[in-house]
Amino acid sequence: MKFSDLGLSNEVLQAVADAGYTTPTPIQEQAIPHVLTGRDVLGCAQTGTGKTAGFTLPMIDMLASGRARARMPRSLIIEPTRELAAQVAAAFDTYGKHHKLSQALLIGGESFSDQERKLDRGVDVLIATPGRLLDLYERGKIILSDTKILVIDEADRMLDMGFIPDVERIVSLLPRIRQTLFFSATMPPEIRRLADAFLSNPKEVTVAPPASPAKNVEQNLIMLQPFDKREALRRLLRAEDVKNALIFCNRKRDVDILYRSLVKHGFNAAALHGDMTQSLRTETLNRFKEGAVQLLVASDVAARGLDIEGLSHVFNFDVPIHAEDYVHRIGRTGRAGRGGKAFMLATPEDGHFVANIVSLIGAEIPPFKLDGMEPAALDNEASDRRSRGRRGGRGGRGKTERKDAAPQPRDAKPPREQQTRREHREPTPRNERPQSPRQAPVSMESFPLAANGSVAPLPARRPEPAYADDDRKVVGFGDHPPAFLSRPRAKLA
Ligand code: AMP
Repeated sequence: MKFSDLGLSNEVLQAVADAGYTTPTPIQEQAIPHVLTGRDVLGCAQTGTGKTAGFTLPMIDMLASGRARARMPRSLIIEPTRELAAQVAAAFDTYGKHHKLSQALLIGGESFSDQERKLDRGVDVLIATPGRLLDLYERGKIILSDTKILVIDEADRMLDMGFIPDVERIVSLLPRIRQTLFFSATMPPEIRRLADAFLSNPKEVTVAPPASPAKNVEQNLIMLQPFDKREALRRLLRAEDVKNALIFCNRKRDVDILYRSLVKHGFNAAALHGDMTQSLRTETLNRFKEGAVQLLVASDVAARGLDIEGLSHVFNFDVPIHAEDYVHRIGRTGRAGRGGKAFMLATPEDGHFVANIVSLIGAEIPPFKLDGMEPAALDNEASDRRSRGRRGGRGGRGKTERKDAAPQPRDAKPPREQQTRREHREPTPRNERPQSPRQAPVSMESFPLAANGSVAPLPARRPEPAYADDDRKVVGFGDHPPAFLSRPRAKLA
């Protein structure tokens, strides 16, 4: 099929040709004709499939006639992260270059006044993250009663980030008669329920089975001891023909440590995680995209949707705790038909998490022997013990548990349905959330009974593994001296 068979205008076809696309991707082929007829679409598609163009191209044509009124956007696209929102805005610029549509990007961390000024002028396309959109709505800067097209992108990511209550609120502010396009990489039951609530007789389009890694990504698994991880990564980076790479860690703290370690060893690296200011995140990402930075050490804030042209490698410095994050992380490479390579460093304790990934993707990850490094064997029971220990001691799932059942790590969050957190700033991805006592699910398993029936003391928590060259030593009270030390001393009588 050709783009010209999809019913798009000549102007849009010209923009597509200018972008260098010759053939529509499967999601574009299946979704565009239905979007153009005004039908709701439920798209099960992961990033990298061309889904952004799948909804932006027809939207440009549908919005081509008509005028926007002040503060009343004609269409709304909700994205889970600022980076994705910015990427969609860039797609509208690319594909809408032969049209005169106006757009506004409402994301946290940027000036309210600029965004308000744009809204006042009237916008055809509003691209927003949920928190900032609701902020501006509550300030009376947006009226959503004239919004006729709604796109909810990366719905499962919104769910993970606790945005669903915000999304439900936003949808309740829109007119009932509207066109809704709903995209999600996976369709767990909660997402399916939302889709049923938001969509009316949708055309369902599925382009890849949920959670299947791109076929053109060569995957490798390196099993080693925890203290060998940084050395192994350095060797790999030197041995591989790395044009540019994303290196994922599970925690923000480890992103910083690894980034500093790489720089110390002479690599051209930068860090990206949710604790950085938005301006620094944008600047870092731009430098990486432009090629000024070769290695970007990142948390899962970079795992979804980021489109970095021709990314040659993805390294999982840490095995992701949630198996589906593996698919999203390695999906940053091998995009748009190109090849890519992914390496995952796993220590014996990661055995259980690796098994979950293998079970999810339905294939073994080929082992890779790194010269000069002592190989290690994965120990399913060790990480199974770790999962149980993290959940509060005895009584956790035994050896017979389902492989694909999600483990509950130390920094686990409460079940998705219970999340009602309202985020105005970029939320912390789930692997990075600190566990507060309020968040921690409390079960009787946390209070094991002693033989005589009394409540036994909790077993001591296993210390976090420390890396051999961890240079973050805390001296004295570190950054947190107790308050009494800074109080002025009372005068003696
Ligand atoms: P997406 O899944 O929307 O993030 O798109 C992934 C990548 O595919 C982006 O770099 C797009 O520019 C690119 N792309 C989108 N549509 C096509 C197409 N029909 N042919 C080739 N590349 C495309």
